[in-house]
Amino acid sequence: MPFTANRAFKESPRLITSAAGIHLFEPSGRPILDGSSGLFCVPAGHCRPEIATAVSEQLQKLDYTTPFQFSHPGGFELSRKIASLTPAGLDRIFFANSGSESVETALKMALAYHRAKGEPSRQRIVSRELAYHGVNFGGLSVGGMVKNRQGYGTLLPGVVHMRHTQTVQRSFTQGQAEEGADLADDLLRAVQLYGAESIAAVIVEPIVGSVGILVPPQGYLQRLREIADQHGILLIFDEVITGFGRTGCPFAADAFDVRPDVMTMAKALTNGSMPMGAVAASTSIYDTITSAAPEGTIEFFHGYTYSGHPVVAAAALATLNIFEKDGLYDRAAALVAPFQDAVAELASLPLVTDIRAYGLLAGIDLAIDGQFGRRGFAALKALFEAGLMVRVTNDTIILAPPFVAEASDVAQMVDIVRSVVSRL
Ligand code: PMP
Repeated sequence: MPFTANRAFKESPRLITSAAGIHLFEPSGRPILDGSSGLFCVPAGHCRPEIATAVSEQLQKLDYTTPFQFSHPGGFELSRKIASLTPAGLDRIFFANSGSESVETALKMALAYHRAKGEPSRQRIVSRELAYHGVNFGGLSVGGMVKNRQGYGTLLPGVVHMRHTQTVQRSFTQGQAEEGADLADDLLRAVQLYGAESIAAVIVEPIVGSVGILVPPQGYLQRLREIADQHGILLIFDEVITGFGRTGCPFAADAFDVRPDVMTMAKALTNGSMPMGAVAASTSIYDTITSAAPEGTIEFFHGYTYSGHPVVAAAALATLNIFEKDGLYDRAAALVAPFQDAVAELASLPLVTDIRAYGLLAGIDLAIDGQFGRRGFAALKALFEAGLMVRVTNDTIILAPPFVAEASDVAQMVDIVRSVVSRL
């Protein structure tokens, strides 16, 4: 099993056999509240019949067609739909099958763009400490989570890590910290050290998710954008977690009012029902890459057997229709205040050493119990026994409720966290 203590799991397995709405069910039928929207990917609630119907119909009509030199109407319809949601100008969509593949695609796109533009020396990628960009080789190399990198050697060369933005001084900050935008100047230091002509792109998660919700200080992302613009560097936002409403806006780029050149997405795109990732690129990147290739040749030599898979595209279209029909962006935005208010009250618990929240994401740090991650794992198991599914990373509990949850559901989730953490 991935990212699992396999031997310990054998002793005390946690199995889920069905799900509906904001609940998961154990084999015994015991309900578990889904406080993490699956793995940040089920905002519209589990087992939506609209998605099941769309998938079933598509399976009977066209189950597969090769994406190499062929396509199907659903792929274009989905591209147009995604482009209508992404920030203006980010309207060229490329499909992958996961967040990790989206990251690989985005990195390759950045390199291909500079080559097409006649600047092949731009090959370095700047990223950040504590970043998570998936598990494949490029994403792991630009990633900054120490445990993920350990055990895999030196990884790719040409990656420069900026500092992360979290400090003790910024503990318990509500929303964005006022101080810290100057940390974006680490990008400038990379330019000074290596030369802009060697740097292809800077990749960041607008809100760092997997290490426990690190919110950028005010002006930080704007400053990154400015420096990237001044030096011809592409700005890539990894919106695999933050995309599709998690911040209360369609994308974090909207929430922070910064437009990247390339944006990755996955997870909520199919409401977790099918594996899919996508990359949105600016028109100028698309035009540069396509016009550099001779007429009739393949412009971007990249893709997957299942890129834009017809059945998965049908699931994604059904998901985005649910977002519209149920007004899920508005629902998410309306849930932000009750969620954050409830979470903020956990600050009084003696074990809680920091809380960071933005939109419908919250990271609750617990004091380390001798060994890094031990208390977090204990919390995960105790919360599950108490009927709440969360994501735990090291000693941080992450809450990310589904958008269809009511304020009372969110209060119940936070109550469970309170009683379990008080007992730990
Ligand atoms: N990027 C970010 C920001 C993520 O949070 C994740 C997954 N949590 C990924 C990439 C990788 O996505 P996947 O697990 O679908 O490969």
